[in-house]
Amino acid sequence: MEKKDYLRSLSSVNDLVQAVYRSRLMGSKAIPRELVTEASRTVLDGIREAILAARDEMSLKEIKTDTQELVSLVEKVVEEKLQMSFRRVINATGIVIHTNLGRSLLSRPALEALATAGAHYNNLEFRLEDGSRGSRQEHLRELLCDLTGAESALVVNNNAAAVLLALAVHAKDREVIVSRGQLIEIGGSFRLPDVMAQSGAKLVEVGTTNKTYLEDFRRAITSETAMLMRAHPSNYRISGFTAEVGIKELAGLAAEYGLVVLDDLGSGVYIDLSAYGLQYEPTIKRSLEEGADLVCFSGDKLLGGPQAGVVLGRSDLVDAMARHPLARALRVDKLTVAAMEATLRQYLDPSQAVNEIPTLAMLTANPETLRKRALALADKISSHGDFDVTVDEDVSRAGGGALPMEDLPTWTVAVTSPSIKTSVLEESLRQAETPVVCRVKDDRVILDMRTVSDEEAELIAAAFKDMASAD
Ligand SMILES: *Cc1c(COP(=O)(O)O)cnc(C)c1O
Repeated sequence: MEKKDYLRSLSSVNDLVQAVYRSRLMGSKAIPRELVTEASRTVLDGIREAILAARDEMSLKEIKTDTQELVSLVEKVVEEKLQMSFRRVINATGIVIHTNLGRSLLSRPALEALATAGAHYNNLEFRLEDGSRGSRQEHLRELLCDLTGAESALVVNNNAAAVLLALAVHAKDREVIVSRGQLIEIGGSFRLPDVMAQSGAKLVEVGTTNKTYLEDFRRAITSETAMLMRAHPSNYRISGFTAEVGIKELAGLAAEYGLVVLDDLGSGVYIDLSAYGLQYEPTIKRSLEEGADLVCFSGDKLLGGPQAGVVLGRSDLVDAMARHPLARALRVDKLTVAAMEATLRQYLDPSQAVNEIPTLAMLTANPETLRKRALALADKISSHGDFDVTVDEDVSRAGGGALPMEDLPTWTVAVTSPSIKTSVLEESLRQAETPVVCRVKDDRVILDMRTVSDEEAELIAAAFKDMASAD
């Protein structure tokens, strides 16, 4: 057969569309005809190109042109188009605050508030007492002040926005002094010097990477200085021969010169988690008590709420930020307000918050619970096919620039297969019906139970079952 015979033997777009609707898979679903037509055209174009590009008889013969083959190709294209791009995944990395996987999971009350806010009209900017216009910040301000002792509060889109706004409002065209040990980059997209430049503030670096003293700050103060800033180093640590200036010392110096102290906490821990066996992290309250004029942090890191940036501090400073035109561009939406208020209310009872806010619950999970989950999953995976499965003690990370170097003791399930390469195991998990994201170490797939629920362990087991039957 020659190329033109192959081309002639292809079905028309119309015939292919008919065949698709007659096929078993699609028959039951109401799929828009436009979508099927478009997919049929795409498939036929692809086949035609392949025929024209074929160099010899052999490669020509390999191109499948029978209608049933084309129907399944069309079905595949249609399925891909119908599939949501933004999907649920199972996080088996053990990294609790995983920025690429959506950071914090919301608590049940936050989810309920979110659904209600989305489904109904609400009093976002409307005062029910007198029918006057309100501010969306009112739902959060008092609660944040009660929880932390701050004079005022403002919630914006994220912590990067909070830092940008603080600098733009209080240090534009003036100088901000920062220790060289804190000129951080977080996740590639937040670089303190770049944010500083965008805000119009001038960065003045002092000290060295490992040591900075109060005197370094004092010597750098000029008539142009507006602010002394501390930034949490988040995802790295300088250890060994080091010196840092605390908020208390900075606040003392700032008072002498009438400067503002800004503390970018990054994660914003409300509850001292050292009581639960984790490394001590300066809490939000402590930073305020030590004299920071403005404190800011993320809503979706250790706080365990929705994406947001929280600013707390002196009311003259916070309120000036709320009035600035940039605040309008950086404002939070109603869904964030709803989820944030519900999350913050849980902190009114801190011990309950630790159990019910997923981020905190996962960070403080009992290793024995994780071990049992690992054993149960290992059993299921072994029973589903020819897999080599071990349960191991390992460590997980908090992630999200929180408690960065801390090793949290955890239990993992490690899997290999005599017939499937580890890279293929990893890929099949990633492309499972509910995608599973895991670690690969020493040529084994590692599933960390810290970030996997019991229900998700079932789905992971099912993914291995599918792999075994496809093998
Ligand atoms: C994470 C982080 C930010 C950025 O916060 P987003 O909420 O992601 O915008 C800024 N500063 C520090 C110290 C951080 O850890």
